[in-house]
Amino acid sequence: MPELPEVETIKEDLRGLVVGSEIESAEVLDPSLVEQPSTEEFASRLEGAGITGARRRAKHLIVELDSGDSVVFQLKIGGQFSLVPPVEEPETALMLILHLDGQRRLFLRDETGFTRARLLDAGELGDRLSPLGPEPLEDDFEAGYLPRTIGSRRAQIKPLLLDQKVVSGIGNIYADEILYDARLHPRRKANTLSEGEWGALYAAIRSNLAAGVEHRGTTVRLYRDVLDRPGGHQNYLRVFEKHGQPCPGCKGEVVREKVGGRPTHYCPACQRENSPGEGGRLESLW
Ligand SMILES: [Zn+2]
Repeated sequence: MPELPEVETIKEDLRGLVVGSEIESAEVLDPSLVEQPSTEEFASRLEGAGITGARRRAKHLIVELDSGDSVVFQLKIGGQFSLVPPVEEPETALMLILHLDGQRRLFLRDETGFTRARLLDAGELGDRLSPLGPEPLEDDFEAGYLPRTIGSRRAQIKPLLLDQKVVSGIGNIYADEILYDARLHPRRKANTLSEGEWGALYAAIRSNLAAGVEHRGTTVRLYRDVLDRPGGHQNYLRVFEKHGQPCPGCKGEVVREKVGGRPTHYCPACQRENSPGEGGRLESLW
């Protein structure tokens, strides 16, 4: 499930390996890939285009072309780009092959089949990206942003972190790890967080995503970089898919429950459901 750190790694790989190349032809093997425009127009507008840049916005991977168009990829659950020698050519689940100059080929494969692509001009790209919340590793995402924008919401904190209009790039893996670090129960309502808890959440968002980028992403199942190598951050996870195992903090058991419809992993001892305020009031009543 590529989230911010995985898409960031793929983007950096494409900058190093593919930007500057020319697309000689584009072979769409799975027409469900192309959401906009038609598959035929997608392929014909890519043909002969030079790749001038690669960037990331939220979990979107954006490939910029010298025609002024951009291709926006959403890798969803299992999308993988790979630039590998022909001997290692992937044979299954191929959605797209970009034939590049120098007889190189960039493969897009996805065994889940959910990856989607749009070829957009500059105006369409702006419209597409404008609803997204701020980039959490950039300077304009400051500590006051979350309490200011969602601090009065009665919604649970985990679904809010996953909402790409609130903040960009966080998915299910990093959300669970962030909430563990911040010692916040995933069902806590945003309007019950104290100033100190907002500060801990902010620090945990920045540190977990930065570590994910530094370790070139998390490979739980499908994620690979552009040279088909797994990431390294799975070795640093504390709670995600660790249910039944001891919490590294208190040695209690990590549990798994659905929160907001998503499988969620947390330590019930370290991440209390009652806010300190509520807990304090209950204790004084007893
Ligand atoms: Zn614990």
